[in-house]
Amino acid sequence: MPNAATQGNGVRHEKGLSMEFDCQQCGACCAVFRVSFYWAEADDAPGGTVPVDLTEPVGTLHRCMRGTQTKPVRCVMLQGQVGQSVACGIYEQRSSTCRSVQPGDAQCLKARLHHGLPV
Ligand code: SF4
Ligand code: SF4
Repeated sequence: MPNAATQGNGVRHEKGLSMEFDCQQCGACCAVFRVSFYWAEADDAPGGTVPVDLTEPVGTLHRCMRGTQTKPVRCVMLQGQVGQSVACGIYEQRSSTCRSVQPGDAQCLKARLHHGLPV
């Protein structure tokens, strides 16, 4: 789930169509992919923000959000119903990976399609 400042921004598609995605009515990207990031983004490292108890190891150098490494994928911090109304329980502390997905980018569209949401 991206930065609040980008939520609901208009998105221009290759075909010239315009579509608005409201992340707070979506949440699909929090329930499709393994949300992994460098281990030091967790709060057991200096400057880390993601609560380490909400993460699982991925190899020796990375962690992922619990709930995103097994099927069906759903981050433990995703609140609400995908495609209806959602929120992130650690919004201000979420990882760089969470922040990197932008409405309308390839990851977003893949996630929305997976959940049967319009693209
Ligand atoms: S899949 Fe796209 S629209 Fe949905 S929450 Fe993620 S970035 Fe926002
Ligand atoms: S931490 Fe928040 S933004 Fe990141 S995957 Fe989980 S619910 Fe989504």
